[in-house]
Amino acid sequence: MNEPLRPASWPPAWPDVTDPGVLAAIAETPRHEFVPHASLDQAYEDIALPIGRGQTISQPYIVALMTQALALTPESRVLEVGTGSGYQAAVLAHLTPHVWSVESVPELAATAEARLRRLGYPVQLRVGDGRLGWPEAAPFDGILVAAAARSVPPALVVQLADGGRLVIPLGDSAWDQRLWLIEKHGDTLSKAFLAEVRFVPLVYTEPADADDAALANIRRKLQKLFEHS
Ligand code: SAH
Repeated sequence: MNEPLRPASWPPAWPDVTDPGVLAAIAETPRHEFVPHASLDQAYEDIALPIGRGQTISQPYIVALMTQALALTPESRVLEVGTGSGYQAAVLAHLTPHVWSVESVPELAATAEARLRRLGYPVQLRVGDGRLGWPEAAPFDGILVAAAARSVPPALVVQLADGGRLVIPLGDSAWDQRLWLIEKHGDTLSKAFLAEVRFVPLVYTEPADADDAALANIRRKLQKLFEHS
């Protein structure tokens, strides 16, 4: 079978993605390994593509933008919510060997795991509701949510290290979503708008967290942070 060659001009020039490490990570990650056969000839187009089960592999530009926003170093510990094809996790693994990723659909997780192992990416994977994070591996310097949530899951903020960064699309519908960067400094949270986006919805597969004091406190802070947006 003919593998599509990565075009010489990959990745394309993105005005707002300039981090050389991120651009190298995108250049080195073989996206054709992560898309279904039927879409092979589109692997190096800057578009999202279907991967089955109603899910998609994200648009490379958005993957790059979210990765850049995390400002990772090789020491960073990073959690992804929504493994999907494993492409985003592979891009992260080019920047740090400490990557955890949670996927709620077992079949997608199994395919992504086999693929990431075959390609030699040392990503730790788990099937579950990523809204609850991965408490045993916390704290994380970066958390990347690859599906649109109605509000920020407070457990993810609890699992963020001091100085940590969370990138998450928020919105009620497919047409009205915004990508946010949230930073945690001590007791303070700040937010910055990154882009208008379109993600598949974050599905809640497990019951809500028991509302302990730490979660209730974060929930209050998040409500305040987003009350006018
Ligand atoms: N990062 C992926 C694209 C993800 S699409 C890639 O690079 O290919 C969003 C993914 O989030 C889907 O695979 C979907 O099944 C998963 N998902 C949705 N809700 C989830 C949840 N609560 N926990 C974990 N994964 C979830």
